[in-house]
Amino acid sequence: MYIDSDIEKQAMLAAIIESSEDAIISKDLTSRITSWNPSAERMFGYTQEEMVGQLIHILIPDDRKHEEDVIISKLKCGERVEHFETIRKTKEGKKLHISLTISPIKNAEGKIIGASKIARDITQQKLIEERLKILNDLSTTINAKLDVEVILQVVTDACTKAVGAEFGAFFYNKLDEKGASYMLYALSGAERSQFDKFGMPRNTKVFDPTFQGTEIVRSDNILMDPRYGHNSPHHGMPKGHLPVVSYLAVPVKSQHGAVIGGLFFGHPKEAMFSEEHEGLAVAIAAQAAIALENAKLLQEVNLLNKRKDEFIGFASHELRTPLATLKGFMEIAEEGGMPVELMFPKVRKQVERLEGIISDLLDISRIQAGKLELEFKRVSLLSLLKDSIDMVDISNHHLEIKYPGEDIRVCVDGQKVSQVIVNLLSNAVKYSDKNSSIFLNAALLGDQVEINVRDEGRGIAPEDLKRIFDQYYRAKSVPKDTTGIGLGLFISKVIIEAHAGRIWAESELGKGTTFTIRFPIDRP
Ligand code: ADP
Repeated sequence: MYIDSDIEKQAMLAAIIESSEDAIISKDLTSRITSWNPSAERMFGYTQEEMVGQLIHILIPDDRKHEEDVIISKLKCGERVEHFETIRKTKEGKKLHISLTISPIKNAEGKIIGASKIARDITQQKLIEERLKILNDLSTTINAKLDVEVILQVVTDACTKAVGAEFGAFFYNKLDEKGASYMLYALSGAERSQFDKFGMPRNTKVFDPTFQGTEIVRSDNILMDPRYGHNSPHHGMPKGHLPVVSYLAVPVKSQHGAVIGGLFFGHPKEAMFSEEHEGLAVAIAAQAAIALENAKLLQEVNLLNKRKDEFIGFASHELRTPLATLKGFMEIAEEGGMPVELMFPKVRKQVERLEGIISDLLDISRIQAGKLELEFKRVSLLSLLKDSIDMVDISNHHLEIKYPGEDIRVCVDGQKVSQVIVNLLSNAVKYSDKNSSIFLNAALLGDQVEINVRDEGRGIAPEDLKRIFDQYYRAKSVPKDTTGIGLGLFISKVIIEAHAGRIWAESELGKGTTFTIRFPIDRP
């Protein structure tokens, strides 16, 4: 269509302005509004009647009033202002992010008499940008963190802000060194003291879906939720609890789907969490899960590294002691200071000590690599015990053996079980005085064999008794020059447990110690 008359052109422009999605406003050079289209009405909430003749400043928040002076001075110079992103306020006082394009209006003589202003509402776009930024910042911050508690706090703060919640909490299931589960939590918008007295949120109909990882719970008013208020003693929120009405809870799951915690948000007003907030919380929960898993892996790597360093230091020290003794003997031999036949037993002892340490270290590395392999064979228990006794020098003690009348054939890795018995007997010798008695008892208990090694030695203090089966643990009272590296009992425990058996110790300080092993006659 070709438009030639001015009237038609004007009508056409008016129609465009009327139907535009953007607010189109014109004003004179004193900032007084001269026209106001329907979109301006929708966007800012003021009608045309209310606005024409008013100063444009009515739309400008106090802290941005100076912007108008800059705009007007640019206009006076004939310059356009393009895509100027700023904030304006609606009649209700709500802040809008808008993008402004302002062009000078000239009269027939070319003189600037005012300006046309096109305002686009970019609040939504800004919101998305802001949230993407939160997500981005969050991922950079938390991926650089190793400390679980710091990650929990950063995530809780960021997510609480992102979803516009008044209160936020992150409950995180953590396992302690013994494998027991306990909860860590971080809060945002509330003091810890406000929470500590309420106990952990578990096992109630409201919290269950989050901790089970089955469901996201988003409620405009949790107080009206059918799941709410069924649990004793409070039947709802305990007195003094945060005033939560709007509620949002998202499970935090690992890559393999295990629930590692939950993010919870609350607001005292109704209907504060939208689907969009929910999506954002889910995205943050996924990021948090990755960061927490990374932190866990890195902590494990650090711990293993520390263990490895300790191990190398320890092993080299232990190997050096018998080597230094051997070197000393060699020097004496060279100088002819001791007859060779007298030296031989001493040298053999040190070589055996070296052998023992190396074989313990090898066992440990096999255990740590999960490669301790057992060769089950049916063997005579009597021969197994005899062979073990033969391997230990008990000549300075009285050994008393009690054995069931009839020989029992057991299905075990004979060499490994013998290693355990040798270790128990050697310890009994090592940790008790010369000439004291050592008792070796074997008995049949149903389909199990029980073997006890009892000594009348120094005994083990209760605080040590709890730890003697740990790697490298030696009782504090063991004199420094007592041979050993604290691995024998740890290895024994692994071996007996691999036979589906149990090993334990009972002891009284100064009176003696009894070690007991029990394992099935048949292969587990
Ligand atoms: P090691 O004897 O090489 O130190 P073990 O793992 O065999 O290592 O034993 C760990 C610790 O348990 C010992 O260092 C010692 O403190 C204690 N222990 C083991 N057996 C006895 C025992 N029969 N009497 C007293 N203490 C013992």
